[in-house]
This record gives sequence, C-alpha cells and structure tokens, in this order.
Amino acid sequence: MRVGFGYDSHCLAEGRKLVLGGVVIPFEKGLLGHSDADVLLHSIGDAILGALAAGDLGSHFPDSDPRWKDASSMDILGRIRDLMLSKGFEVNNIDTTLILELPKLKDNIPFMVRNIEKLFGLEQGRVSIKAKTNEKMGFTGRGEGIAAYCVVTIAGKATGAK
Ligand code: MG
Repeated sequence: MRVGFGYDSHCLAEGRKLVLGGVVIPFEKGLLGHSDADVLLHSIGDAILGALAAGDLGSHFPDSDPRWKDASSMDILGRIRDLMLSKGFEVNNIDTTLILELPKLKDNIPFMVRNIEKLFGLEQGRVSIKAKTNEKMGFTGRGEGIAAYCVVTIAGKATGAK
C-alpha cells in the first residue's frame, strides 16, 4: 500500500466554464488554466503521481505543450490511471477537500464522485469529495480562486507490483 498527497489551485475568471470532477457547474466564473483547469482532478492526479514517486502533473502535462491546451482533465487523469496500472498498482481510496466560497456543490458532488469511480473502475464508497468554505479568509475566501487537497491510497495488484 502507498499513500499520495496532492494539492492544486486555480484562479476564478469570467468567460471560463467551471469544471470540477469532470462536471460542468453553472456559475458566473470558471477556473483559469491551460487545460480545463479542473482543480479537483489535478489534485487527484498529483496525489497518484506522488504515491508512485513519478513526478508531478506539470512534468507530465506541461502547460507549454499545445497538446494539453483546453484538454479535458478526465483525459489527463485517465493517462495517469494508465501509468499507475502499468506500474502494477490500483486505487484503493481517494479522499479530497475542495476549498471555495461559491458555488455550493452539494447537488453536484454525487455526479463528480460517480465520474471518478467510473474512471478508476471503483465500487461505491471509495471516493470522497468534501467541499468547504475558508470562512472568507485568503484567496479562496475572497472568491479569487478554488483550491483542492487530495489523499489517495494505491495498492499493488496481485500481479506483483514492488
Ligand atoms: Mg492545476
């Protein structure tokens, strides 16, 4: 068993779609980034890469590379999943926390969880998404951006990961 930790943040800006956990969420602003800037999926990707000791998202998917311009982060995370599988590991569980004042995500979270379960082929009860405000403090509290934290455990498959 290995543990990985991930963190990401992006600015909120007008004229962008807000995509979190692969779900487009109606809101007046979206996250700014080279890809779709799905901060939640980026934190998960970094956590998995961390558990594999395989660098970080920026080294695998540099924002200088036009291939990842407006890329779907579901696609990016799928590539990280494939790297993990090729190294003989599978996800055990994923626990995440989003920090944002608005929008409220309660109704969207089940769809975000389902997207991630599907991507990793996980049964229910292994993916957790929590959302909380920062009590109006800092960049998340002022609504300037959204941050995400993730802890993941991955386990060697019976086929012999080391
Ligand atoms: Mg990011």
